[in-house]
Amino acid sequence: MPKCIHCLEEVEKLWIKNKYELYILQKCDKCGEIADKYIEYTFFLVLMNLILVDIPAYRHCLYNRWVNDDQNEA
Ligand SMILES: [Zn+2]
Repeated sequence: MPKCIHCLEEVEKLWIKNKYELYILQKCDKCGEIADKYIEYTFFLVLMNLILVDIPAYRHCLYNRWVNDDQNEA
């Protein structure tokens, strides 16, 4: 199950698709932040944040990097 990169709370979904097929990032119920903003980032931007030792970027790689549409719908 995906986790919030700010407080590590498990979240049901990282994103939803609206009726226009646009992705909408979901907020964490516990802390109110967007659960994982790095889902939208390219690999290079995530890598730059890793080099800058951004802790949420590491959490994204550990917990949410490989979440795809099927796992997100679970
Ligand atoms: Zn949170």
